[in-house]
Amino acid sequence: MKGKIVVYAGPMFSEKSAELITAYGRAQIAHRSVLAFKPQMDSRFGQDVIRSRKNGEIPAINISSVGEIANYDVDVYIIDEFQFLTGDVMVIDDMANKGKKFFIAGLDKTAEGKPFGLMPELLAIADEVKKLTAVCVDCDKNDDDEAINSFYLGQKDKDIVIGNNEYIPLCRKHWLARMNAKKKED
Ligand SMILES: [Zn+2]
Repeated sequence: MKGKIVVYAGPMFSEKSAELITAYGRAQIAHRSVLAFKPQMDSRFGQDVIRSRKNGEIPAINISSVGEIANYDVDVYIIDEFQFLTGDVMVIDDMANKGKKFFIAGLDKTAEGKPFGLMPELLAIADEVKKLTAVCVDCDKNDDDEAINSFYLGQKDKDIVIGNNEYIPLCRKHWLARMNAKKKED
C-alpha cells in the first residue's frame, strides 16, 4: 500500500469530522485495518468516539502526543482535533514513507486567527490538503461568503477550548468586524 497524508483543515462547524468518518468507512470497505485517534482533552462528545453532526460516529483512542500512534500497527490512521496534539509531526511522515495512510482533521487557526499548534507543520508535510469552510452566521444574501474563521463569543481572548457553544464561524469580513468591536470593548 502507498503511504499518504490527507489533511482536512478549517474553522469550527466545517464538518471536518464527517470527512474522517467517511475515510474510516472507506478503509473498512477496502478491508484495510484502521484506527481512529483524538486528543485526550477533547471531551465534547465523550471520550471514546469521533462524532459528526451529520455522519454518525466512530470509536477513537485517546492520545496526547503524536508519537503514541506508533504503538499501533494498522494500514490507515484517522486523527481528529490534531491542533491539540503535541510532539513531532515527522513521526507521521516516517510512517507514511513506510506505506501508512493518514486522514487527519484539525482547526487551522485559533479564534485569534493565528496558526494553531502543530497544524502548520502538518499542512507542510501533507500530500493533500482540503480546506473546508462553514456558513458565516453574520452573512446575509448580499454578502454570502464562506466562513474561514472561528470567533470566540466570550470576553477573554484565548485559544479555542473544549465545547462548541461559545464559538461561531465567520467569513473574513465579519470576523474582522467582530474582532475590531471586541477590541474596542477592552
Ligand atoms: Zn460573513
